[in-house]
Amino acid sequence: MIDAHIHIFPPYRSARAVRWLKRSIPRVDVDESISETDILETLDASGISYFFNYVYPLRPGESRSLNEFNYRLSKRVNNAVCFGSVHPGNRDRKEIVEEAILDFGLMGLKFHPFVQGFDILDERMDMVYATMERLNRPIVFHTGFDRFYGARMGPDVMDKLLTRYPGLVVVIAHMFYPDIAGAFRLLKKHENVYLDGTNIFSDYREPVDGENVFEGRVVQDRGAEEYAVYFYHSLKELEAFSHRIMIGSDYPVAMNDPGRIYDTVRTLNISAASLENITERTARNFIKRFKPEFFQGNSVLQETGG
Ligand SMILES: [Zn+2]
Repeated sequence: MIDAHIHIFPPYRSARAVRWLKRSIPRVDVDESISETDILETLDASGISYFFNYVYPLRPGESRSLNEFNYRLSKRVNNAVCFGSVHPGNRDRKEIVEEAILDFGLMGLKFHPFVQGFDILDERMDMVYATMERLNRPIVFHTGFDRFYGARMGPDVMDKLLTRYPGLVVVIAHMFYPDIAGAFRLLKKHENVYLDGTNIFSDYREPVDGENVFEGRVVQDRGAEEYAVYFYHSLKELEAFSHRIMIGSDYPVAMNDPGRIYDTVRTLNISAASLENITERTARNFIKRFKPEFFQGNSVLQETGG
């Protein structure tokens, strides 16, 4: 299984991220001192063959060092598929993107517009999108959970971006939750779109007297009502587009125990072929599409990775 959404950060960012998560989900069993080794051990024990690692700068001064961090990680950990990022406030955005992709050999870029504080149609990002379109490398965007972030970005805005850059490959992380249908509309309309179901298959639940900041839907569990975050969209569509859908955990800032998340995915009531797509094959083909040389240095892992 490939986890297409992991956040190994440098320790100073990791501790902050875990503290932030635990303010919202106190019961998650993860310590703010969690290390790269801890994360890698958990992934290994959970049967994860490869993982995508995302970092993104909160301020312009952090862009290059974070990209370099992920470059070093990619050299140290040969089953890590590492992505870079940049901040809209960087004046040398084009150079930073080219360094990330061409010099550091990172797979693509990841952005979290809510946390990084920008609108995806911000004109400062035009050069970034044009460069990525020219280099034929993907951009992963955080989408969804607007109530939690106190921000708003709907599929309509992403549609404009995809229309402006028809050659740009975009991964819609979290499927615009709770507007999963909106994410599928974009998937059908734009052939360069992939979906990442991270958090949606987390089996996150909370009592109905909670705040429901994660916009769960009311479900019945042994007679009790709970708010649940889950894939309430058509399983037929999940199957039909499974060759363009990946999943991940967001570990160590996941909404649930990673084992629970992987079990939720593995027990989905879909065909074995579609399940293999979303758990492994789509991500593997995605890596091959953009960095075919990635697997060449990893022949042993490739065999054990299925
Ligand atoms: Zn994430």
